Amino acid sequence: MRKMKARFFLVAVLTAIVLPLSAAGKNKLVGYANSLQGTDSNFGLSNGNTYPTVGQPFAMHLWSAQTGRNGDGWKYTYAATTIRGFGQTHQCSPWVGDYAWFSFMPVTGSLRVGEEERQATFSHDNETAHPDYYSVTFDNGMRTEMTSTERCGHLRFSFPKGEDAWIVIDGYKDHAGWTIDPATRTVSGWVDNVTWINNRSTWRCHIYMQFDKPFEAYGTWDNRTNTVIEGVLSEKGSGVGVWLKFKPGTKVQVRTASSYISPEQARLTWQQEVGKDRNFDATRKRAAAAWNQLFGRVLVEGASDEEMQTFYSCLFRANLFSRKFFEYKEDGSPYYYSPYDGKIHDGYMYTDNGLWDTFRSQFPLTNLLHPTQQGQYMQAILQAQQECGWLPAWSCPGESGGMLGNHAISLLADAWAKGIRTFDPAQALEAYAHEAMNKGPWGGANGRAGWKEYWQLGYVSYPESMGSTSQTQEYAYDDFCAWQLARATGNAFYEEVFGRVMFNYRNVFDTKTGFMRGRDIKGRWTEPFDPIEWGGPYCEGNAWHYNWSVFHDVQGLIDLYGSDEAFVRKLDSVWTEPNDVHVGTYGGMIHEMKEMQLAEMGQYAHGNQPIQHMPYLYCYAGQPWKTQKHVRDIMTRLYDATPQGYPGDEDQGGMSSWFVLSALGLYAVCPGTDQYVIGSPLYPKVTLTLENGNRFVIEAVDNNADNVYIQSATLNGMPLEKNWITYADIMAGGILRLQMGPRPNTTRCTTKAAAPFSVSNVF
Ligand code: CA
Repeated sequence: MRKMKARFFLVAVLTAIVLPLSAAGKNKLVGYANSLQGTDSNFGLSNGNTYPTVGQPFAMHLWSAQTGRNGDGWKYTYAATTIRGFGQTHQCSPWVGDYAWFSFMPVTGSLRVGEEERQATFSHDNETAHPDYYSVTFDNGMRTEMTSTERCGHLRFSFPKGEDAWIVIDGYKDHAGWTIDPATRTVSGWVDNVTWINNRSTWRCHIYMQFDKPFEAYGTWDNRTNTVIEGVLSEKGSGVGVWLKFKPGTKVQVRTASSYISPEQARLTWQQEVGKDRNFDATRKRAAAAWNQLFGRVLVEGASDEEMQTFYSCLFRANLFSRKFFEYKEDGSPYYYSPYDGKIHDGYMYTDNGLWDTFRSQFPLTNLLHPTQQGQYMQAILQAQQECGWLPAWSCPGESGGMLGNHAISLLADAWAKGIRTFDPAQALEAYAHEAMNKGPWGGANGRAGWKEYWQLGYVSYPESMGSTSQTQEYAYDDFCAWQLARATGNAFYEEVFGRVMFNYRNVFDTKTGFMRGRDIKGRWTEPFDPIEWGGPYCEGNAWHYNWSVFHDVQGLIDLYGSDEAFVRKLDSVWTEPNDVHVGTYGGMIHEMKEMQLAEMGQYAHGNQPIQHMPYLYCYAGQPWKTQKHVRDIMTRLYDATPQGYPGDEDQGGMSSWFVLSALGLYAVCPGTDQYVIGSPLYPKVTLTLENGNRFVIEAVDNNADNVYIQSATLNGMPLEKNWITYADIMAGGILRLQMGPRPNTTRCTTKAAAPFSVSNVF
């Protein structure tokens, strides 16, 4: 059983306000967002695997307290009792690690530079953690506060009276160089720590920072031996940190900017973003305003404080990735260092996203909230392909090719379906075709693992390819996206090419067992078959989880079962099967397995992506009330705003966006179409203020924890007799009004006319 929610929640409770929200209330929404959500995680069990992020929406640089050792993916763990630094971070997930990290640590008393020696104890009682602001007062009386802009950090350190005051800058082992200028109170330099970069030779993060108090003394230290090098400065680097001495009892602010382009650009960025605001509180005010502005565009009414905390904490994490990887020239035009070819280009670049995690919910949410940015990102995807030869699949910041599928096409097709016209669809289809018919040098999702078998046999074979069945299913969905884009843009050639293979999911469906299964090169099913065994032909899941990965053709999947009744029986079984795990080729428990067991929802594994859309599939088979019941159950049982608040890896906004969309009563089962499937909204009222200025209101009349079932619905006053609405419906503004009740309406929206999109129905 998961730990129950709301054991504590100090700050947000104190700053919480009464409903309904006034204009002043909207200016406090950021106070609901708890950036500690999901931080009580470790290698073996993820409650989110997050860290207390300070940052702006989609910011280039984020900031976090650091409890773990330098280089440890578990940067901040809630169970820790000491902090060893406050650093610039870009980590998407502990599983891919950080890059361009460096940290500040205040030290009082004697100078201690090493990350073990300098760490200081703290208690969560003395910690405040929101998107715009983090502060902690250590047991020894030191205090650190952090806030930020898109590309700059602004930190404030308060030292106890009567003791020497130091700030140690740790540029990470072996890769840092610094120059100290006491006359201007500046430190400038660089770090180049990184794992995933496609051209390491030109990779460097240039840093420029200015302090507001004079240095009493200063110098460098060797971070391999943790010894002070008094007075000796090194610009060359290889394991050098900085120490600075300040007056006892002082309050020191530092404003710091980073650039991947040049030292000059770091300094320009510093001037652009923090040069004017000498005062920490002024920067903080701007940071809060940016989040309040965004949060105010998704305005929840009628929710409890606890519900507000959960929603806005999730909305915060749904708006951090993909990362803005561009900087601004003096004339205000964007340009960027490419993590793919290592060169400088004009235009926008976005990176830091594992698309396997995010195509399902984060991007369909982003298309609603940020279509302009999404248009820039679509250009960036194609630009990235030009620069490294492959479409991004898992970039952080260079391309790693992690996980499976070629889901960049899902983003492109989804953007096109939603009216985004910033890219050339023919170029997108060419790039995708290259992706689908080749294998790249990195990972399984860089090109296609098993692409030859897929095209020749109609499926990826096992055991030649680990995760072969998952690959077949996801490739077929991606091919659908390409077909959809080709069809929409009059590209007959690719419509024909991808139209032929988008039904390939059928080739791994075994009618006898009713599961998607592994097949060998001769077409024989992989034996012995065990539906609860993880791994083998399935990636991070088992047959129960991948059965549903036919996003584009749920009706086709229903047909494989023979009837709606048989299909619904299978869906129902997911929840009632024992939550047993056979570890299969993983050879031991991985955290996703444990999270499925802790959720106590049978074989439903919300802790990982493959099955997260499955609760919505009842809407295709005449029993939408079961969707309504299950999604409410998942939202209220598996999410809250605490450090244990996610049922598994948060994954660059993926887990959060599922919640945000579902709480609105919507979900995008099939990105690449313009539909949002209707679930069961969590609150009485939400008002979306769209980029075009229109407002879309979702009203759930008589909504409460018991009244989870939709009795009737209207869209702009007209009866709504289907289980979905379109992107255009939302963007046009209007009111979706749902009458909620305690019992299922088993006659509403049960026909095929009410079912959402399936490609089988197109033919
Ligand atoms: Ca995951």
